[in-house]
Amino acid sequence: MAVGKRKAWIDQKACVACGCCARVCPKGAIHILRGVYAQVNEDQCVGCGLCAKACPASVIEIREAQG
Ligand code: SF4
Ligand code: SF4
Repeated sequence: MAVGKRKAWIDQKACVACGCCARVCPKGAIHILRGVYAQVNEDQCVGCGLCAKACPASVIEIREAQG
């Protein structure tokens, strides 16, 4: 069951896999996959936006979740 409707969305092509977003996420919802890009677990994400603020490449947006 998803918590909240706003979710972090990551432009994975532009992500530099620095891990800053994963470190600040209070829900542990972000993981760096294969050392290449960050991925959000939407079931854990509460849309707080901390990751978007922390991303040095500004590739995270907070979007309304589908459905
Ligand atoms: S919006 Fe908040 S809960 Fe969701 S991934 Fe970013 S830091 Fe984590
Ligand atoms: S902070 Fe931004 S660039 Fe760094 S891993 Fe997260 S999404 Fe990618």
